[in-house]
Parts: sequence; C-alpha cells; structure tokens
Amino acid sequence: MNNFKAIDQETIKELNQKKIIQMLYRKNQLTKQVIAQNLKISIPTVISNVRELIERGFLDEIGVAESSGGRKPVIVRFLPDARYSFGVLITKEQVRIILTNLKFDIMAEKIFDITDEVNKFNDIIAEVRKEIDNIISANNIPRDKILGVGFSLPGTVNEEKLLLKNAPNLKLKDICFKEFEQDFQIPIFIENEANAAAYAEAFINFNYIKNSLVFISITEGIGTGIIISDNVYRGYNKRAGEFGHMTIVKDGKQCNCGRKGCWELYASRKALIDEYRKTFNIKDKTLKDFLEMTKIDSRAKEILNNYLEFLAEGIRNIILILDPQCIIIEGELSNYKNLIEDDLKNKIFQENNFYDEKECKVLFSNLEGNASIFGAAFLPMKKLFFLDEKVI
Ligand SMILES: [Zn+2]
Repeated sequence: MNNFKAIDQETIKELNQKKIIQMLYRKNQLTKQVIAQNLKISIPTVISNVRELIERGFLDEIGVAESSGGRKPVIVRFLPDARYSFGVLITKEQVRIILTNLKFDIMAEKIFDITDEVNKFNDIIAEVRKEIDNIISANNIPRDKILGVGFSLPGTVNEEKLLLKNAPNLKLKDICFKEFEQDFQIPIFIENEANAAAYAEAFINFNYIKNSLVFISITEGIGTGIIISDNVYRGYNKRAGEFGHMTIVKDGKQCNCGRKGCWELYASRKALIDEYRKTFNIKDKTLKDFLEMTKIDSRAKEILNNYLEFLAEGIRNIILILDPQCIIIEGELSNYKNLIEDDLKNKIFQENNFYDEKECKVLFSNLEGNASIFGAAFLPMKKLFFLDEKVI
C-alpha cells in the first residue's frame, strides 16, 4: 500500500497560491520579485499565480516600486474584502453573530438573548438564519463572496460530521448541523468554543506561533484548546483539553461533572468572585471592584493570592504535560493583566526545575473577548489559506 499521496501539478499550483495569499495576508503588499525571493519560486510562476488570484478577486496591482535598473517591479496587494465569513457564538444566555472580512474587521453584528420563548434549538438556528439573511441584504453582499458560517459551540463537537455531540450547558445532545445547511444555502462549519478560540489566537493574533499553544479561557468555568504541531489536538474521542476538570484538590469541592476538586472550581472567574462575595458578605460587586480593593485591603489581597496559586498550579501541570510554546489566557481577567501578570508568572515559574519563563511564554489575549467568535468566522476561511486540514 502506498501511503504517499502523489503531488500533482494542480496541488503544486494550489500550494503556491496559498503560500502567496498567506504571505500577502501578513505583509499586505509586496512586489512580485520579493514574493518570488521569499517563497523561493520562480518569477514566471509568481506572475501566473498572481494573475489567477487577481481574477479570483483576492489581489490587485497598485503600481510599481523603484528599481535600481531594468523594469520597475509591480506591487501586488491583498484585498481583505475579497471574501466574507460569518461567525456565530452560542452560549447559554445569548447568541452573537458577526460578519467579518478576511482581516477580521467586523462589518456587521447582531446579538440576541436566548429567552424562554425561543428555547428550542431549531428556533435559535432559524433566528440565526434570519439574522444572517438580514445582514447579507443590508450590506449588499453577493452570496458567492460569502465563504460560510462558522459556529462556536460550548460542547464536544465532531467537526467532520457537523455533529454537536454533547453540550451540557445548553442541555443538548447529538445535534446534526448538516440538516441546517440546506436552509442557510451557505456552507456550515462547527467547532468547540475553546478550540475555535485557539485557532483565532494562533492564526490572527500570534502569527509567530509555529508549533504549539494552549488557550485557556477563564469564565464561569475553564475551557481549554490545544494546538500541537500546528493543528488542534482533539484526542481519540474528540474530547481532549478538558483541563478545567482535572483534579487540583483531592476530595475537594463537588463539581457538576460528578467529580471533586476540579481546577475550574478554584481557578475560574466565578470561583474568584464567589470567594470575594462570601468573604465580604456582599452580593453584586464586580471583578473590577474586587481588583481595585486588592490594592488597599489585605484580605482581598490574600484572596487574589490564593486564587493565583490555584491558577498557576493548573498551568504548571499543563506545561509539564504538553510543553507548549506558549499559553494564552483569555477572559475578563486578561483586561487586568497589569495587576496579575507578574504574580502569576512568579508562581508558575518559581522553584521550577523543568522549565523557565523563556521556554514557555505566558500571554494574555488581546482579542478583547472576540477569540472564540473570530475562531468561528475563521473556520470557513481555513481552506483559503491551508491545504487539507493542516492549519497555521
Ligand atoms: Zn469537574
């Protein structure tokens, strides 16, 4: 049996075009000569592929650069509005829909609450479809310029079969999104919310990441997405990355998952706020109030210190298991990076014989809460930038 896929001319052409698109996507504009030099392909190959990409609407020529002699080199530019994509983020409370161009500029946005009247999942999907149709006509976008709609979902997902297998927070099981595709009349893609966010971080934000990252979303619980060797690591049953439920305290607090002492019971945003409200016997103060208080109150400071110990404990375990190039933290806490960054890093890296700060970067997301929905919008774009399922 031959395991090697023959690389034919068509594949080489496709690969060259994807390389050109990727390069111009990052650099915005370059001369054909520079493209040829950087990609180590011949100028005639660049010229013919660029011509095709111009015909398909992805690039245009915007003049000539100065030349030291001979013909002036033509400058080619990437066109972010060549295609569009929808991202849909479904959480327990609401649905957020965005339309983005290829550079993730949000062209249109719609949010609706999930109320008791709209409680059936089919109704939610029908509402999404209606809003998408409204956005398309309001913005006058030709349907053939829309690559698809990507859904970011809080549960286990089989992305190939378009199957949402289990979403406990939405009380949903075995929802097949293939059934909706005919109604939408644009391709549908689905992904777990943390995996989608990891894609977005790796592709949009930290494009120097070449190998591996772990994305940690700190909200009501803790969600994680893993990228190893440039792909989302899903595991045999597509359930990998449930770090929020790793045991951090033996026989600790009871978790909804049925086990005790799970990491998210100690290191989620909810855990921190609950501890703050309990200690000070208050009800409606926010994370911001609490963090302000840590500057002046020693009890508040101690709560934050304990919390960061638990957060660091889990991150240390993740680094030991996966040895990622970087860890990216997202959630409201990342807005207060200045207040917690140094402490958290000290706790992760101090007295550690296995690795130091230079070997695994701990970063905070700067996608301002958009990582997961950008990841959703990225799903239909993947084929434009990558061959097969290979990502990043
Ligand atoms: Zn648990």
